[in-house]
Amino acid sequence: MNRIILIGPPGVGKGTMSSLLESRLGLVPLSSGVIFRKEIEAETDLGRLAKRYIDHGELVPNGVTIEMMAKRLRENNVRRRGFVLDGFPRTVRQAEALTEMLDDESLHLDETVSLEAPEELIVHRLAGRLGCTKCGEIYHSRNKPPKREGLCDKCNSHLFVRSDDQPETIRERLRIFHEETQPVIDYYDSKGLLRRVNASDGPERTYAGIVIGLQQPVGEVIPSLDASSEGTS
Ligand SMILES: [Zn+2]
Repeated sequence: MNRIILIGPPGVGKGTMSSLLESRLGLVPLSSGVIFRKEIEAETDLGRLAKRYIDHGELVPNGVTIEMMAKRLRENNVRRRGFVLDGFPRTVRQAEALTEMLDDESLHLDETVSLEAPEELIVHRLAGRLGCTKCGEIYHSRNKPPKREGLCDKCNSHLFVRSDDQPETIRERLRIFHEETQPVIDYYDSKGLLRRVNASDGPERTYAGIVIGLQQPVGEVIPSLDASSEGTS
């Protein structure tokens, strides 16, 4: 079983890699965003606490985030199947807390993968998205182009680039990402746990770059183990 952290800018393909690691190695995908949403929806004590900060436009404190993640990491299926973390740890304080949690349980972390791609490629990927203002349909200039340029296939309205996907906005999001995560990358680098993987040559090559660092060969997870762990938490 393997335990992996994925770090990478928006648009680099973390979601795709999490899905592949789940379907092929049986790892439990632990996305901090999803875990937050579930805690808030279930109105747990932690969820209510986190919501108070979010509603006030404030960052959720490290302590609350760490407690939410710790809760998931202690679950039986996560312990048995291993995990792939996405969106956590985001700060060195969180990374240190994760190290302590794993040490306490005598669990080891296999690797922290930094998914890397040239900024131009990421901007190109994200900036290609087009939305229909009338019916909401989403297109992509390269991956899912409309039949007639600039017009919606369904309702014939004009297509627009969302403000979040404007090249300047994307560059700013990338700048903030690098500023925030560099200390975390340095932290794992200093522990000898960092692996830099080129994420610009398609999902299969990226995936190969991730699993080459794992001790357990691909395909060693037994499907029945996966199935029997459902509902255990
Ligand atoms: Zn439309």
